[in-house]
Amino acid sequence: MRIYSHPACLLHDPGPGHPETIARLQNVIEALRTAFPTLDWHSAPLATREQLARVHTRELIAAVLDTAVAQAVRLDEDTVLSAGSAQAALHASGAAIAAVDALCTGEITRAFCAVRPPGHHATAGTAMGFCLFNHVAVAAAHALAAHGLVRVAIVDFDVHHGNGTQAIFENDSRVLYASSHQSPLYPGSGMEVERGLGNVFNAPLPPGSNATLFRAAWSERLLPAIDAFAPELVLVSAGFDAHRLDPLADMNLEAEDYRWLGAELGRLADRHAGGRLGSTLEGGYSLTALRECSVAYLSGLGAS
Ligand SMILES: [Zn+2]
Repeated sequence: MRIYSHPACLLHDPGPGHPETIARLQNVIEALRTAFPTLDWHSAPLATREQLARVHTRELIAAVLDTAVAQAVRLDEDTVLSAGSAQAALHASGAAIAAVDALCTGEITRAFCAVRPPGHHATAGTAMGFCLFNHVAVAAAHALAAHGLVRVAIVDFDVHHGNGTQAIFENDSRVLYASSHQSPLYPGSGMEVERGLGNVFNAPLPPGSNATLFRAAWSERLLPAIDAFAPELVLVSAGFDAHRLDPLADMNLEAEDYRWLGAELGRLADRHAGGRLGSTLEGGYSLTALRECSVAYLSGLGAS
C-alpha cells in the first residue's frame, strides 16, 4: 500500500472553531504510521493548472491560486482560503494524480492519499463545503486523458453527497459515480432519481442509519452497479464522517464497517481493474473516529 501525503497539506488553516482542522490529517498520518510500519510513504507532487483545468474553470483555479491572501478569505459560509491553502490544495490534487500514474503504469495496486482540504463538494466552478479543488475528479480526468482509460469508477462513502463529483461527471459515461450518504444533510443533493446518463448511483440513507442499512445499500445496490460497469480503475472518496462519533452528521457506523467496505472494494478492484484502487481522504471530523476508521479501512484493503 502506497501513501501519498505532503506537509503543505497542514498549511491550509480555515481558522479557530472550524471542524476541518489541521489535527485531522495529523491524526490520520500518526495512526497509519503506528498501525502499519511497512507502508510505502511518498511525497505528493504539485498538480499543474492544466491538470486542474480538465475539470475546473479558469476562474476557480485563479481564485484559489492567484488571490493574494494576507488574511483568510471566506469563499462561502464554511469554505476558507488561508495563506497556505493554495499549496495544500495543489499537493492534495497532485497526490491523487500521482496515485493514478503509479496505478496505471502498474507500479502499485493500492494507494491512499492522506491529504486535505477535502474535495468532493467542489464543482467545476465553485469552491464549497470546505473544498477548493475536487482531487478525485481531477484524478479521474487524468486517468481518462493521460492514460486513455474509458471506464473509471468513483466510489464515495463520505456521509455527505459528493455533489461536485457528480456534477462534473454526470454527462460523461466513461465515469461511474456511486455514493452512499445521509439524507437529508448538506449539500442536499444525491437523491436516487439523480442518475446522470445512467452512470450515477445514489444511496441516500436516513439519519440514524447503522451498519445494516449501510451494508445493504452497498451489497444490494452500489457494488452490483459498479460490478456491472467493470471499471478499469477504482477511485474512492474516503470520508469517515458516517461514524457514530462524528459531530457533523447523525449516522451510526463503526470502524468495522469501513474495514468491511475496504475489503469489498478491494475484491471489486481485483475482479475488474487488475487490483488498481486509489483512495483520497475526504471528510471525518471526530479525531478518534478518523484514527480508527482510516486504519480499519486500509486494513480492509490489505495494508499491513
Ligand atoms: Zn463529509
